[in-house]
Amino acid sequence: VLFNKYQELKGNIRVMCRVRPALQKDEQNTAQMSYPDEKTSAEIVVAGPEERSSLGVVSRKSHPFEFDRVFTPSSQNEEIFAEISQLVQSALDGYNVCIFAYGQTGSGKTHTMSAMDGMIPRATHMIYDTIHKLKEKSWEYTMEGSFVEVYNEELNDLLASPGGGKTKRLELRHDEARKQTSIANCKTVLLESPSMVGEMLDHAQQNRSVAATKANERSSRSHSIFILKLVGSNSTTGERCEGTLNLVDLAGSERLKHSQAEGDRMKETQNINKSLSCLGDVIEALGRGSAHIPYRNSKLTHLLQYSLGGNSKTMMFCMVSPMETHLKETLTTLRFATKVH
Ligand code: ADP
Ligand code: MG
Repeated sequence: VLFNKYQELKGNIRVMCRVRPALQKDEQNTAQMSYPDEKTSAEIVVAGPEERSSLGVVSRKSHPFEFDRVFTPSSQNEEIFAEISQLVQSALDGYNVCIFAYGQTGSGKTHTMSAMDGMIPRATHMIYDTIHKLKEKSWEYTMEGSFVEVYNEELNDLLASPGGGKTKRLELRHDEARKQTSIANCKTVLLESPSMVGEMLDHAQQNRSVAATKANERSSRSHSIFILKLVGSNSTTGERCEGTLNLVDLAGSERLKHSQAEGDRMKETQNINKSLSCLGDVIEALGRGSAHIPYRNSKLTHLLQYSLGGNSKTMMFCMVSPMETHLKETLTTLRFATKVH
């Protein structure tokens, strides 16, 4: 009962925080050159008194924070997924669900969302299993995936044929009556087996590498949105059910000063800052029950308009590094998390 009341008040938004472990140079990770060895720096993000829901940032001052859930550096993706699996199920029940990963570059967004054992593969596997079980109850589901990127306030198709040249401009179409958004010219893939999801992720990764030689850098400057449309129909009862699961790996939240950037880089920086603060504004307005929700202020919130608010469920993962060197960005991330909570 308490939880339902909470959900009503907060408009179905939950905020969780994940603290990643300190990174070591000898770790077998592809990005090892981009991150400094952290063994020598101090860890300043510590568990709070309520281990499951509070944490503290302890430097010269101490800053306590509370969220719906806190994951410490020893948490694995399996444990994280257990916390979102109900949300994934509700996409099969006809809800529109958004799961975001927010945080500075290097804080663990991609590790959480897209790694081999991350939320995207786990969610799709669970959906396959559930669809299989629902067959016994006369439900027949289709699962369609698309994968897009918002870069500089423009939408790109991460599943377009690599080097295809003449890819058409993606455009948003809103169907206000049915409360649905579609993306014109966007490739969608009918996902008929679990292995197709892996292929889809590989394809998207390849596209990113083709589009930018510094693929890692590009991915930290753009939002990627994995979209699963789930349509079910029941041959006995005639019921129908349509839900969407959006898994969003946001651009790095680090505040880049305009003075440090020029030209294209400056426009890029302004666009990232703008779209992340728009996202915060939209979630905050939803939480307040505001009459006007500023969806149209950015491409990302415009795209996700019908998956935020209304008949939808939202989860925000805020990722932080435990290290003192990241103190400022960590506090900024945790304050953003508090604002939307
Ligand atoms: P982001 O996508 O936020 O820029 P990444 O997910 O790429 O950050 O993480 C940065 C580095 O830290 C990667 O090498 C990643 O493997 C590692 N990392 C992040 N989170 C964890 C974690 N919970 N456990 C182990 N390694 C992690
Ligand atoms: Mg990343």
